[in-house]
Amino acid sequence: MPYDEALEKYEPVIGFEVHVELGTQTKMFSDAPNPAALGGTNDAEPNTQLVPLDLGLPGSLPVVNETAVRYSISLGLALGCSIAPSSRFARKNYFYPDLGKNYQISQYDEPIAFEGSVDVELPTGETFTVPIERAHMEEDAGKLTHVGGAAGRIQGAEYSLVDYNRAGVPLVEIVTRPIFGADRLAPELGAAYVSTIRDIVRALGISNARMERGNLRCDANVSIRPRGSETLGTRTETKNVNSFRSIERAVRYEIQRQAAILDAGGSIFQETRHWHEDTGTTSSGRPKSDADDYRYFPEPDLLPVEPSASLVEELRAALPEAPAVRRRRLRDSWGFTDLEFQDVANSGLLAAVEETVAAGAAPAQARKWWTGEIARLANAAGVDADSLVSPLHVSELVALVETGELTDRLARQVLEGVVAGEGSPSSVVESRGLRVVSDDGALIAAIDEALASQPDVLAKIRDGKVQAAGAVIGAVMKAMRGQADAARVRELVLERARA
Ligand code: ADP
Ligand code: MG
Repeated sequence: MPYDEALEKYEPVIGFEVHVELGTQTKMFSDAPNPAALGGTNDAEPNTQLVPLDLGLPGSLPVVNETAVRYSISLGLALGCSIAPSSRFARKNYFYPDLGKNYQISQYDEPIAFEGSVDVELPTGETFTVPIERAHMEEDAGKLTHVGGAAGRIQGAEYSLVDYNRAGVPLVEIVTRPIFGADRLAPELGAAYVSTIRDIVRALGISNARMERGNLRCDANVSIRPRGSETLGTRTETKNVNSFRSIERAVRYEIQRQAAILDAGGSIFQETRHWHEDTGTTSSGRPKSDADDYRYFPEPDLLPVEPSASLVEELRAALPEAPAVRRRRLRDSWGFTDLEFQDVANSGLLAAVEETVAAGAAPAQARKWWTGEIARLANAAGVDADSLVSPLHVSELVALVETGELTDRLARQVLEGVVAGEGSPSSVVESRGLRVVSDDGALIAAIDEALASQPDVLAKIRDGKVQAAGAVIGAVMKAMRGQADAARVRELVLERARA
């Protein structure tokens, strides 16, 4: 059903579960190295980041990671939550081959952080307050790879591989309350909310916070109800929607899909759904169990977590500025128009531009490169722009253009080299030989040759038809393999033609 029609008839209600991988050195309950440690890339050889506990072998016992607790408290505070003076771990029981213990240690009725809110800026510039129900600590499961079936699904697979590296990685799961009132902006709010969570987590420095690497994972819950109705509709939970853009698309798709079903007299099943990036649709996953089915019970191997009031106050005092405050500060200092600023913010590039400016680039140049050429390359590669190149390299590139060592065109080639992993901009300039020809002697020689071979053009220029110079400038730029400053060439062409 068309989105507008769905919105006329139904009101969407949304809710998000965001899993954040904490960047501690070791895992949540063991001393195995954490593949998601700060600066880590989650790409170690399978089954190398393990100790017996991560496999659930007999005789191993969990020990809580103190840094993970500190990170979780900081995150809870940044989400405006209360921190529980005493919180407990619980066993969530299920069989799944990527979790050797056959239960996940999580938190259930006593999460470490509860009842907060996050202010999120919508693309319209309005602020929307998202209510947070809880943020709890848990461990991640391993990873299954199904081989031989369609699209990596277990159905039809010939065999499955299991990698336990991720088993035991510390997670915080942030759960919102049902969100009312976003109405037609529900899809955009979803993307803006997760982007805000990423900003918070980055500012806290507690996670690598890269969605494309799974450091941040979002499940989007969507239901709709007829306008005017007071009862909540049945929700679906679309799993692991892993870019801001896909969150927006997945929520919009689910609203339309559910509206079409209800409109035809059907009903919605409570189930998980899978998001398909290529088709922009969701498909049915598994029926969603109620909490009861997991037979939660308090983890007998761990004591309650009881942070002292002084620790909580210490962490509160160390909180970075809130995202809304930061936006205001950046907007004021960069001098962008509202549209330019939204463009940067909505692309999740505030931090990238901020760091590029801190490294010395003019804000306008930083914005131009990040939202222009870099975003284009990222789009083509299907990744977030800030995963392609570092702010330091972008500021170096901007400086090379500023000093005239590179033209914009050459700078784009240099950027491609940097993205391809060939090193810093100046080393790509060297290795690819991309420096601008600034030696007037070489330019003049090429110009004189071009003028001599195009006497008609020469005559026109002498006649005052300056636009005719374009043909000569083009020939010279070609002779210089694009490595000349076109404005300087133009200047010299006119000079030589009139000489
Ligand atoms: P589960 O363990 O089943 O995933 P959680 O409590 O962890 O349940 O998360 C459920 C999410 O769905 C929360 O963000 C909650 O606000 C949201 N939610 C609950 N009911 C609805 C509903 N009817 N429509 C939309 N979202 C809902
Ligand atoms: Mg959940």
